[in-house]
Amino acid sequence: MTDLYRLLPEEMEQLVIGMGYPRYRADQILLPLYYKFPKDINDIPQLPKKLRADLTEAGYTIGSAKETHRVVSEDGETTKLLLNLNDNNAVETVLMQYPSSKIGGHPRSTICVSTQIGCAMGCVFCATGQMGFKTNLAAEHIVSQVIHFAEILEKRGEHVTNLVFMGMGEPMANYDEMIRAIRILTHDRGFGLGQRHITISTIGIVSGIDKLAEENLQIGLAISLHSPNNTLRRELVPTAGPNSVEDIIAAGRHYFKKTGRRVTFEYALMEGINDSPEIAQELSRLLKGNGSHVNLIPINPTAGDFRRPSKTRVLKFEQILSNAGINCTIRVEKGTEISAACGQLRTDIVG
Ligand code: SF4
Repeated sequence: MTDLYRLLPEEMEQLVIGMGYPRYRADQILLPLYYKFPKDINDIPQLPKKLRADLTEAGYTIGSAKETHRVVSEDGETTKLLLNLNDNNAVETVLMQYPSSKIGGHPRSTICVSTQIGCAMGCVFCATGQMGFKTNLAAEHIVSQVIHFAEILEKRGEHVTNLVFMGMGEPMANYDEMIRAIRILTHDRGFGLGQRHITISTIGIVSGIDKLAEENLQIGLAISLHSPNNTLRRELVPTAGPNSVEDIIAAGRHYFKKTGRRVTFEYALMEGINDSPEIAQELSRLLKGNGSHVNLIPINPTAGDFRRPSKTRVLKFEQILSNAGINCTIRVEKGTEISAACGQLRTDIVG
């Protein structure tokens, strides 16, 4: 069985031509796939009956995700779904909405997609990491997460504005399927989302960052650093292995040079672990003059024993970075109470 959501528009063309149909039939499949969200090939009535039958006989299908659980935050701005994919794997996907009154611009509907079930990186503060690695998601299952929310939003007269690859899993560890999904989601004959509206978040897999820099894509990059030195980083990210802090920062610099897209360093602040003024100074020395942006994320309560630092400590950390001329923000978390925030996704604890 091949899911039609797996195919790039060029591949869809080759498919219909190979079956003896004119090229334009490909668009008659693509348009409804990305704008009408059919659940079955027979839900595309504009296709000749014979083509629908030929596709079905050749093993093509439309594998939409099925929602099995939904939790919405009190303010209604964050929705976490447990989606059953057509290979019977379950994945968590989150929608975060930012009304224009809060962000002073166009309202945003950002989907946080997962690229793996579980994660092999084992970051000690992350609920997904504590699940261990289960499997990689195929491109069509990454696309399905977006399509599912696109359909929900369309019914409300809204649409997906941004995507962040910050859900379950390390995107660079499922590189080929992630890139295929991005090419489908940004193709003007596919889902058509602007490349600049997508951000990939990585724990700092240098080979993946270097590869992404060569893709000729305008994708934003967020690198989770969490420590300015290798000793502490290895404690927090046990699999950091060959990728030293220095290598990761150099890879970020190279990515910026190649793409012109600013790189954000994500820094999860954990009380008594990596939030001292001394560590802030160490981080400042490392990033000074780099044009880097640092996003401080006071840690969320997860399965581990880590605590969120006090507001005073967070502000002090930020001040030290800012005084060193480093562009720095403190992330306003969404969805913490429904375990939908960064580092909280895991499929065995829903809600
Ligand atoms: S923080 Fe990211 S890379 Fe680390 S275990 Fe969690 S999902 Fe994996």
